[in-house]
Formats: sequence, C-alpha cells, structure tokens
Amino acid sequence: MNKVIIITGASRGIGKEIAKELAKKGNTIIANYNKSEKQAKELKEELSNNKININIYKADVSKREDAKKLVEYTIKKYGKIDILINNAGISQFKEFTQITDSDWNNMINTNLNSAFYMTQEVCPNMIHNKKGCIINISSIWGLVGSSCEVHYSVSKAGIDAMTKSLAKELGPSNIRVNSIAPGIINTEMNKTLTQEEINNIKEEIPLEKIGSTKDVERCVEWLIEDDYTTGQIISINGGWVI
Ligand code: NAP
Repeated sequence: MNKVIIITGASRGIGKEIAKELAKKGNTIIANYNKSEKQAKELKEELSNNKININIYKADVSKREDAKKLVEYTIKKYGKIDILINNAGISQFKEFTQITDSDWNNMINTNLNSAFYMTQEVCPNMIHNKKGCIINISSIWGLVGSSCEVHYSVSKAGIDAMTKSLAKELGPSNIRVNSIAPGIINTEMNKTLTQEEINNIKEEIPLEKIGSTKDVERCVEWLIEDDYTTGQIISINGGWVI
C-alpha cells in the first residue's frame, strides 16, 4: 500500500490491530497513544523485532493543541497524510440521571471532538493533494442508542453525522469519509463485563460470537483499497443490529 497513515488510540485494542497490520503491509504508520506509553513502546518493539518501523506519538487528541502537533509532526516528517483513522475512544456505563457535566464533556471531547480536531487539522493537506481517506470508528450504539450509555451513543451518532456531511463536502476534493460502527469487539473496553453478561450478549447475536479486532481491521483495509465508497456507516456486528 505504502501510504502515510495516522491512527489515533493505537496503543491497545482495535487501533493497535489496525496499526500492526497496516505496518506489516508496508505503510508508514503514526500510531498515537495517550496514557498507555508502555503498550505503545511494546508495539513498536514487537514490530521492530520483525524489522518493521512505526512511529509512536503521544497526544491527548481530545485537545486541539495536541491534535495539531500530531498532524504537524507527520507533515514535517513525511510531507503528506494519505489516511486518517479516528479510533481513539472511551466508554462509560452510567444511568442518564447520574451523568455529570464532567462525564458528558469528557465523553464528547474524547470521542467526538477528537475526530473534529484531527480531521480539521489533516484536511488542508488532503485537499491540497486532492486525495484522502478518513475512517471514523463509531459504534452500533450511535445507530440504535444504548441504555445507560447516552453520552457514548451521542458521541458516536455525532461521528456518523460528521462522516455523512464531510463525505458530501470533501467528495469533490477526492477525499472519502466513512464510519465503521462495530458491535461488541473483544478488547479492554469490555473488560468489566462478566462471563454471564457476555454469554447473554452472544445469544442476541445471530452469528453467536463476539467480534475480534481483526474483524474491524479487515474492513479498514477494504475501505482503504476501495475507490467509490464514501459517506457510509459500515456496521461490523455479527448481525446484532440489522
Ligand atoms: P480500548 O482497548 O479501550 O482502546 C482505546 C484506545 O483509545 C487506547 O489506545 C487509548 O489510548 C485511546 N484513547 C483514549 N482516549 C484517548 C485520548 N484522549 N487521546 C488519545 N488516545 C486515546 O478500546 P477499543 O475497543 O480498542 O476501542 C477503539 C474504538 O472502537 C473506540 O472509539 C470505541 O468506542 C470503538 N468501539 C469499540 C467497541 C468494542 O466493543 N470494543 C465497539 C464499538 C466501538 P491510551 O490508553 O494510550 O490513552
């Protein structure tokens, strides 16, 4: 592929899988992390043992200044950005009446504003190059809503609306914008679920299993290779939401 790709939240879970696989295929990867420095360094080391280099870059992408620096670093080093993957995110289970202003703002800043900042920062370069691909990782809960995750669902629905609107605005500049809306994926994000809760969820899923990070990563690769898909929300969910 040989593209310059920024992936936010690539120290763990889905972002890490995407970073690893795209690096193995010969791309230039800027893997962003915030708190998980140890995991980010381990990822770099694991790949360098296989003679693959990736850049790891610490930035809290919920902050404009950090997002700006991450993009400036990439353009200074490589001169362009071909692909942006807005993956960084957090989740929180809380009854609606218990959500504080701080919970709400933290969720929106981390899951939605980060994508706004990152996308706005990369846009001038992509528009100048008349070429680009932006992939936002949203969630089925942005499509159908989730009890006790109102702020999370709102942040993801916002991402999907941004995807559709930007696809229209940036299409003439040959920039494709799509969302991947996963169902339940086996990562640390779901570590608080008990085995019983997981079994109950599996029973609701037609394919009767939890998704893997690989399932999402395969879709990312397809979207990168594709040339005629934009403004779409692709839900990788085992049939949980149809
Ligand atoms: P995860 O294992 O908890 O990883 C989250 C990643 O986001 C970490 O690398 C974390 O980095 C990063 N992150 C969080 N806040 C950040 C910030 N302010 N700045 C930079 N990075 C930040 O979660 P995951 O399951 O891989 O989730 C990845 C994305 O998929 C999220 O957007 C999530 O909402 C979405 N998703 C997940 C599922 C699921 O079932 N797992 C389902 C649907 C959608 P640090 O640890 O370094 O801070």
